[in-house]
Amino acid sequence: MTYLAAFPPVSARRLLEQMEQGRLSLSGGLASTEPVHGGFELVTEDGSRQFVEYLIDGRGVGYGVDELKRDLLTGPLMEQGLINPHPHGGLQIDRMTYEAIGKTGEVTRNFHILGDLTKGEFLATTDVGRCVAHSVRLADAIAR
Ligand SMILES: Cc1cc2nc3c(=O)[nH]c(=O)nc-3n(C[C@H](O)[C@H](O)[C@H](O)COP(=O)(O)OP(=O)(O)OC[C@H]3O[C@@H](n4cnc5c(N)ncnc54)[C@H](O)[C@@H]3O)c2cc1C
Repeated sequence: MTYLAAFPPVSARRLLEQMEQGRLSLSGGLASTEPVHGGFELVTEDGSRQFVEYLIDGRGVGYGVDELKRDLLTGPLMEQGLINPHPHGGLQIDRMTYEAIGKTGEVTRNFHILGDLTKGEFLATTDVGRCVAHSVRLADAIAR
């Protein structure tokens, strides 16, 4: 991944070290999280429960329609039809100008979208290098 994106090997080494020391473990199949007294309970698909004192959601920005509707910024914009979800995640944009494409299919002029929200259009956006490259192209499009 280091060659594809700015994922530093130093982080990978640190994570590996912690796993080898038994201080970090991975588990999948998370079904839900519930606040309980003094922390949170993680419930997995097989029904098992694990208590944690602290819980950090590090998944980043959501790409799904439900997440976009829930967000205080994108939700109202979607209701007004100024932005529209992309079938592959994120929002529909004009890939030449990065302007949003609204509900009716018309470009929302001067409303530019960058970064992870353009995942559906460009597929690989989950890395800072890609986001920077797109922002350079956007600046160029605005300057023209
Ligand atoms: C766990 C994790 C690890 C990663 N590690 C790497 C890495 O090592 N190297 C790498 O290159 N990439 C990494 N990435 C990917 C990288 O972080 C993203 O591609 C990049 O941050 C996307 O930038 P963005 O500006 O599109 O979104 P974000 O960085 O998510 O910025 C969106 C901002 O909008 C704010 N926001 C949301 N809603 C509202 C609202 N209603 N009003 C105001 N503000 C709002 C959010 O708080 C956030 O600050 C990682 C991603 C994750 C989730």
